[in-house]
Amino acid sequence: MNAAQSWIVVADDAAATGLVEVARTLGTEVVAVVAGRRAVAEAVAGVVDRVLWLGEPGTAPVEAFAPDVARLVAEAAPRAVVGATTPGGRALLGAVGAALRSPVLAGVERVELAGDDVVVTRSVLGGISQHRTAVAGGPAVLAVDAGAAVAVSDTAAAVEEVAATPLPAQVVEVRPTTVAGVDLGAARVVVGVGRGLKAREDVALISGLAGALGGEVACSRPLAEGVDWLPKDRYIGISGQRVSPELYVAVGISGQLQHMVGVREAKVIVAVNSDKAAPVFAQCDYGIVGDLYQVVPALTAALGGTA
Ligand SMILES: Cc1cc2nc3c(=O)[nH]c(=O)nc-3n(C[C@H](O)[C@H](O)[C@H](O)COP(=O)(O)OP(=O)(O)OC[C@H]3O[C@@H](n4cnc5c(N)ncnc54)[C@H](O)[C@@H]3O)c2cc1C
Repeated sequence: MNAAQSWIVVADDAAATGLVEVARTLGTEVVAVVAGRRAVAEAVAGVVDRVLWLGEPGTAPVEAFAPDVARLVAEAAPRAVVGATTPGGRALLGAVGAALRSPVLAGVERVELAGDDVVVTRSVLGGISQHRTAVAGGPAVLAVDAGAAVAVSDTAAAVEEVAATPLPAQVVEVRPTTVAGVDLGAARVVVGVGRGLKAREDVALISGLAGALGGEVACSRPLAEGVDWLPKDRYIGISGQRVSPELYVAVGISGQLQHMVGVREAKVIVAVNSDKAAPVFAQCDYGIVGDLYQVVPALTAALGGTA
């Protein structure tokens, strides 16, 4: 094993700060292998020590490069291989893990080194318990939040093109979904709403507050997977997205563990709830006991927005 190296596996997406952060904890040299466009490889080159690029993907889907990525990783035998929890990242990392006969550890919350072993901490059982898992004797394959996008920098490493033989699969049609995706991970302010909301059209109230704060709208799981008032990529929690904004405002959210796990990294949490005994009040920095239908328009107006 090359204990000095840790690798990041990048699909066609420059959101990689989370990967680099974890990789730097585990190795002094961070190598990226990029199975995406050259522009992505060039951006990533600004934040790692070495970039291997598998060439323009053309119509090949990212997972078609999995055997090439696995081969490169196996040859280098780094201490760790870190990929993103995005759909493309998961497809790649799963194949790499299988090729290395190594489990892929997902839901990683903390990473540390204990001697030569990589030790990861993960929430289990819906967030009520934490497991520490040590990986010994081979690369630890870790799926982590991708984090924010990296930008091209002047002091970037050279992009080394490596010959690749992608599997013979092709994307034959790209059909945009009706709802644009949202990058909650990069948002500075997030306003989350829960079952305290009474009707779908009232989401506009929350959008008004988020707009006045320059933030994004998010929600608890029931609003995205129960009533479908908001798209699934906007729900936060153990089975949804994890965010780390400077400010998280929880509106009409009770504060169940499965939700709050997703905002643990928020710097400041403000809660608005009509029930003064709601668990969210034990987990926030500032709490407003009140009806969201009065509090939210008042806050929005005070911030100069349209209530
Ligand atoms: C395995 C598993 C995984 C899960 N994963 C997730 C996850 O990833 N994310 C997630 O969010 N949940 C998840 N859940 C669900 C979670 O347990 C809770 O059920 C959910 O978070 C509750 O959502 P809520 O706070 O919106 O609703 P509720 O718990 O119903 O809370 C609604 C709150 O609104 C308040 N309220 C009502 N009216 C008003 C008003 N007019 N003004 C102000 N406040 C008002 C109430 O006092 C209450 O506190 C998971 C559950 C399981 C079992």
